[in-house]
Amino acid sequence: MKTAPAPAATSDVGVPVLDVRDVTKVHRLGEVQVHALRGVTLRVDTGEFVAITGPSGSGKTTLLSILACLDAPTSGSYRLVGEEVARLAERDRAKVRGRRIGVVFQAYNLLARSTAYENVELPLVYAGVPARRRPPRVLAALEQVGLAHRADHRPGQLSGGEQQRVGIARALVANPALVLADEPTGNLDSRSAADVLAILDRLHIDGTTIVVITHSEEVAARASRRLRIADGDIVGDDLRCAPDVMATT
Ligand code: ADP
Ligand code: MG
Repeated sequence: MKTAPAPAATSDVGVPVLDVRDVTKVHRLGEVQVHALRGVTLRVDTGEFVAITGPSGSGKTTLLSILACLDAPTSGSYRLVGEEVARLAERDRAKVRGRRIGVVFQAYNLLARSTAYENVELPLVYAGVPARRRPPRVLAALEQVGLAHRADHRPGQLSGGEQQRVGIARALVANPALVLADEPTGNLDSRSAADVLAILDRLHIDGTTIVVITHSEEVAARASRRLRIADGDIVGDDLRCAPDVMATT
């Protein structure tokens, strides 16, 4: 149905953001081996907003850690914007993460002694962006989440919802190819959760590629595609499984 255009020589056009093939992960706890991922294959294209849901213990956090380049798979291939990262050493994985990925954590993971501004600035510092080029980018990211006026506040002076919005600004500031979120509304009341969801919606409309791991039906309902993981494998892909979609395409 869709024929692949000839790839542009120097750009990432047409290259999936995530191309994960047969990824397994075995956690070793002393003598015990836990097969947390059993051959996950997953492709996410530019601009998609994908939600991954699954029961506790199904492998969601393990998968997120691998997608975020925080951990390496035991076997399989993971191409991130065309670059094979499955077998990179930890230091090189960290570099790829800094360059390509913004992560939003359930517990925000902000530096408590740093201001909102300083927290958002950090990825630019790591990326080697010169100091004079940082302020406009930090302020633009804070503006995107409606918090430019709280730039000088520390996390303890912000509500949970505001802290998570700072977390989103930090994830966005270096202009990553992929925003990954792990239960981004898990610690929030419904009003703050709605604010965070509205921001994710806007990012999606603006073309940001987003993968969210969540228990929340409300979060998953925003996604353009939903995947389910059970017992270490992707078991349902709504685009492929929905009978009405199958019948009409
Ligand atoms: P979820 O996030 O869906 O709850 P996880 O990815 O955390 O699932 O865990 C998947 C499986 O791997 C579970 O059986 C869990 O106990 C196991 N597991 C996760 N992390 C480790 C680890 N570091 N060492 C040993 N087993 C682990
Ligand atoms: Mg988990």
